[in-house]
Amino acid sequence: MASLGDLASPGGVPALGRTVVDAASLQRRVGELAAQISRDYAGRNLVMIGILKGAVIFLADLMRALTIEAEVDFMAVSSYGSSTDSSGVVRILKDLDAPVAGRDLLVVEDIVDSGLTLQYLLRTLTARDPASVEVCALLTKPERRQVALQPRYVGFEIPDRFVVGYGLDYAQRLRRLPYVAELAEPVPG
Ligand code: 5GP
Repeated sequence: MASLGDLASPGGVPALGRTVVDAASLQRRVGELAAQISRDYAGRNLVMIGILKGAVIFLADLMRALTIEAEVDFMAVSSYGSSTDSSGVVRILKDLDAPVAGRDLLVVEDIVDSGLTLQYLLRTLTARDPASVEVCALLTKPERRQVALQPRYVGFEIPDRFVVGYGLDYAQRLRRLPYVAELAEPVPG
């Protein structure tokens, strides 16, 4: 089994493989999603909930492209699973700052893999009596889904490969990349 050391290039950062979504395609799709969200939520009470840390870059670009007002709040969760496999047992590391009863919530996620993290989040948020709860995910891996869950807004469907960039990390690295790429070597499970 490979370790981070095996994957590392001279700078200590794993080498990149194939680009999965290039920067121009990301920006184009983010603009389309923002236009759709702006239409759907016109005149409503939108709170965008960014899931830390992976969704930060996507959320920042998405918000800047909106033509309606939206509040923003954040949650941080951690899965008890291994680094690449979600267990579905989720711990809230940081909760929302404000109550959300009566508000229209849009959960902004980097990627939906098994869907277990999102299922837990949606259950938690729905219990707080919002007016509505929807999901906007930059990426989804439909092949990996373990629960019936379809985000209302999706940037791109991608194959079952571990990806980094545009907010997504490997061991806290590579979030800065303006595109989404695979690693050169498969990620150890
Ligand atoms: P799920 O609960 O849907 O299985 O896992 C969702 C979380 O797993 C994502 O929010 C993300 O943090 C992490 N994740 C799933 N697939 C990938 C991937 O390909 N790359 C990275 N960097 N994180 C992933």
